[in-house]
Amino acid sequence: MARRLVAGNWKMHGLGADLAEVAAVAAAPAAGCEVLLCLPATLLHRGAALAQGRIALGGQDCHRAGQGAHTGDISAAMLADAGATHVILGHSERRADHAETDAMVAAKAQAAQGAGLVAVVCLGETLGDRDAGRTLEVVAAQLAGSVPEGVDLARLVLAYEPVWAIGTGRTPTEAQIAEVHGALRAGLAARFGAAAADVPLLYGGSVKPGNAAAIFAVPDVDGALVGGASLKAAEFLAIVGALAGR
Ligand code: PEP
Repeated sequence: MARRLVAGNWKMHGLGADLAEVAAVAAAPAAGCEVLLCLPATLLHRGAALAQGRIALGGQDCHRAGQGAHTGDISAAMLADAGATHVILGHSERRADHAETDAMVAAKAQAAQGAGLVAVVCLGETLGDRDAGRTLEVVAAQLAGSVPEGVDLARLVLAYEPVWAIGTGRTPTEAQIAEVHGALRAGLAARFGAAAADVPLLYGGSVKPGNAAAIFAVPDVDGALVGGASLKAAEFLAIVGALAGR
């Protein structure tokens, strides 16, 4: 059975003063699911000192190379050295802002796992894709292209994040989430066999305390990737509570 996980994505938010939110999340016991906060890289080291292993911390991107002349980039080993155990890869904002392709995401996932990190690989359709009836086709292609051959399934998490639901307050229906998660589960099984049943499938896109329980009740949803509602401990912990109490 897949592990259950609530992951927060702080995106480009957070200064030192906001680390109190990390401390508050880490101080709350969360029986029944894993808790992860993906912080800006500048906060990881201080965040790790506060979290003391009670929650996991992650980065939001890494370079596919281990080191080299890549000004401004950060390697998976650097994230691990700063206290990260996970890294988000292929978020739609990275795909849009930095023209990241599936092949680039797959290379980053390989690099992340090579450095011992869990790769949280994101995929999801645009509104245009959905309106054109291409959601399953698009997501299947992203799955095929963004998850590398030879991936370590024990250190893989997938996050289904419809682009049109991120930061918009809109969410797919429960039936739409179930359809995509079912297709992802089947796609993983077809490619990797029975062991793929243990890969957590997260839903992401406008998850809030008010809709989390309904989303977590959808078949094949093992948790959530949460953006805006992860910035404040009280909101984030309410979402964690909805999964832990499921
Ligand atoms: C995200 O950034 O991955 C996300 C899902 O954002 P939000 O929860 O704000 O829609």
